[in-house]
Amino acid sequence: MLNRRDLLTGAGPLAAAGWLGLSALVAEAQEKEMGEAAPYVLPPLPYAYEALEPVIDAQTMKLHHDLHHAGYVKGLNAALDKLAEARKSGDYAAVKALSREVAFHGSGHLLHCVFWTNMTPAKTEPQGMLKRMLERDFGSLDAFKAQFGNAAKQVEASGWGILGYEPLSKRLLVLEAEKHQNLSVWGVRPLLVLDVWEHAYYLKYNNRRPEYVDAFWNVVNWDDVAARLDAAMK
Ligand code: FE
Repeated sequence: MLNRRDLLTGAGPLAAAGWLGLSALVAEAQEKEMGEAAPYVLPPLPYAYEALEPVIDAQTMKLHHDLHHAGYVKGLNAALDKLAEARKSGDYAAVKALSREVAFHGSGHLLHCVFWTNMTPAKTEPQGMLKRMLERDFGSLDAFKAQFGNAAKQVEASGWGILGYEPLSKRLLVLEAEKHQNLSVWGVRPLLVLDVWEHAYYLKYNNRRPEYVDAFWNVVNWDDVAARLDAAMK
C-alpha cells in the first residue's frame, strides 16, 4: 500500500508514474491517501504558566503563549486561506506578500512549538548522543553555552538563538535568526531555541536580555533536545 511518505519522497511504486506521463493518477492517489490538510492549531503549554518561575514569570508566559503564539497560528491559517482563494481565482497579485506571511507566521509557530517543550521546571543535563555531539562540535558543553548565549544576546533586535542539526554533514550548528525567518538555513532542524523577542522577557528583565539568556539554562529540558536530535538523525 502506498503511504503518504512514499508519495512525498518519491519512493513508492507510483513514483515512476510521473515520468511515464501518469501524473493525474499520482495526484488522484495522493488525494485519496492524504485528505485535506487540517488548519494549524495552538498547542497547549506542557506545564502551568508559573512553572518556570523565577526564570520566566507567569504573566509573560500567559501573554507569550495565549496572545503572541496564538497570533502566529491565526496569521498562518489566514495566509494559507488567502493563498487557497488565489489558487481558485487565479489572481496571484498578493502572492509575494502572502508568501512572506507564511514564512513569518509559520516560522513563528514552529519555533514557539519547539521553545515551549525546550523548557522544563525539572533539572536536566545533556546525555548520550546529544552530549557527545555538543562536545565534538563545540569542544565542551560550556563552550557551546558560551557560543549559543552570545549569539542570543547579540541577535539584532527581535530574533532567536538556535541550536540545529545540519543533516548533510551530520553536525550541530548554532544560528541566529533575525525576526523568525531571516538568516535561516534551509534543512537545519531546530533542536534548542531561545526566544529573544522583547515579549519573551521584558516584563521581568526589562532591557536586560543577557540576564534572561543566562537564567534560561536553569529551565532547559535537555531530554527534549535529545529526543529532537534522535528524531532528526533517523
Ligand atoms: Fe515569542
